[in-house]
Amino acid sequence: MKFGFDIDDTLINLREHAFRIYTKRLKQDLSLETFKGIDRVEIHEPFGLTDAEGKEMWNRSLEEIYYTDCPAFPGARETLLDLAEEGHEIYYITARPKEHGIRTREWMKEKGFPITDDRFFYGMQDEEKIKIIEELGLDYYVDDKPAVLNTLLHTPTQLIVKDQSYNKELEMERLIDWDDFKSMIKMGT
Ligand SMILES: [Mg+2]
Repeated sequence: MKFGFDIDDTLINLREHAFRIYTKRLKQDLSLETFKGIDRVEIHEPFGLTDAEGKEMWNRSLEEIYYTDCPAFPGARETLLDLAEEGHEIYYITARPKEHGIRTREWMKEKGFPITDDRFFYGMQDEEKIKIIEELGLDYYVDDKPAVLNTLLHTPTQLIVKDQSYNKELEMERLIDWDDFKSMIKMGT
């Protein structure tokens, strides 16, 4: 089968990683509980930043956010390695900007994810992911963002939402723990 995965906040815990970076850079010792209480994708509000300042902070911190030691969610890498080992096709579809595509791919390889170079897509807008997902004819696709998943509701691809504070209203199969992924999918041929 063909499996597609978003990367940020689906396979790796990027927002929490970025939140920790912000606490250091802005010298504000906010707690993990504060992080967990954020109910939107953007993380700048508890730091007292406006949306414009938050965007600027994100872009200014991007190098550190993307390429340091952001952890994968427990079980994510192992699940994808298992699927690859079983002969399934693994695709990555990330909206990270074009100039970060190849570096991100190599960083993901270093983290131990199973990657075939021509099955790694990047640099599209959230709402453009549908084109690639339809062309590939994915059996399953996992993402965290309602803005992406909502565009895919009428495709044959089976959708799974990676549980996050900002997507609770989405009614679809919900992945809370990566160790449960394989029991959620129907391993037909
Ligand atoms: Mg994401």
